[in-house]
Amino acid sequence: MALLLIRNNKEYQPWIDALQKADPTIEVVTPETIKDPEDATMAITWKAPKGSYAKYPNLKVIGSMGAGVDHLFEDESLPEDVILTRVVDEKLASDMQEFVAALCLNHIRNLKTYARLQQENTWKPTDYKRAKDVTAGILGFGTLGQAVGTMLKAIGFNVIGWSSSEKNVEGIKSYTEDELNTFLSKSEILVCLLPLTENTKGILNEELFNKLPQGAYLINVARGGHLVDDDLIEALNSEHLSGAALDVFHTEPLPEEHPFWQTENIIITPHIASMSNAASVSGQVAENYQRMQNGEQLLNQVQAKKGY
Ligand code: NDP
Repeated sequence: MALLLIRNNKEYQPWIDALQKADPTIEVVTPETIKDPEDATMAITWKAPKGSYAKYPNLKVIGSMGAGVDHLFEDESLPEDVILTRVVDEKLASDMQEFVAALCLNHIRNLKTYARLQQENTWKPTDYKRAKDVTAGILGFGTLGQAVGTMLKAIGFNVIGWSSSEKNVEGIKSYTEDELNTFLSKSEILVCLLPLTENTKGILNEELFNKLPQGAYLINVARGGHLVDDDLIEALNSEHLSGAALDVFHTEPLPEEHPFWQTENIIITPHIASMSNAASVSGQVAENYQRMQNGEQLLNQVQAKKGY
């Protein structure tokens, strides 16, 4: 019995150290160190090379090292009968809160414009908005969406959320699926925190942008697959949207020739909104390993049918 780690960048040592600290009884292995593939009963992975899971016939549990699980479903070798888990972590939530708050404040106080004007030695005061006069809509009002919404509310923004099921968060109106148009019509800043699924792929498109108020601002910290890139460029060129902050892209790293690099009013960050930290999440992974062995219900299970 062993816990197998598989990562695209093969940076295993922080995970091995953190897991052994959390529970020294667990044998932690990697594709390079495992002696017999039949030993692996649980795998914790991030963007594993395609086809990886087929090599380990005894996997009962496969967990994502992060909050997103789209990378698991993209691999056809993912067995149908395994239990899937993901990470729910306070640090992941607080990092996301701080990042999105920074982008919202940057937007209403025009800091990107001043950074550009500084390059031109230009002193040019412009009007700004106050948080209390701006409504931020959280598209995907789940674990991270609610954390971000609560932070924006505390700063002073009006906040609304949209999700499949209704949520009860103090001071924040929760809209559900068939109320999308009303939700969008009020969202002057739209923050995408949806999981990437068959239903949400390409949701940030021309039709959706047209339902936002004139001059709305887009923040996508979810997945590149949510966005139709050309529709965003068009919405910015027509000035229906005033700008966008993008942390995630269809192809990462964002290719050098991608038009986003040259599009004014887009802030590009390299998928750093909130990064899973081995020391912080290893406790829940070790706990799940023990639960699996004892035949108990696991923490943070993913509903495979829903895709998140
Ligand atoms: P959750 O599963 O907790 O929340 C997802 C929310 O989206 C839920 O409220 C869910 O509704 C809602 N939702 C899902 N599908 C639909 C739909 N078709 N229509 C309406 N609402 C829908 O996920 P997290 O908050 O933990 O994470 C969200 C995403 O953030 C991750 O999947 C990942 O892609 C991204 N992420 C990005 C990071 C970065 O660094 N850029 C870091 C971490 C995560 P309901 O609650 O009713 O089911």
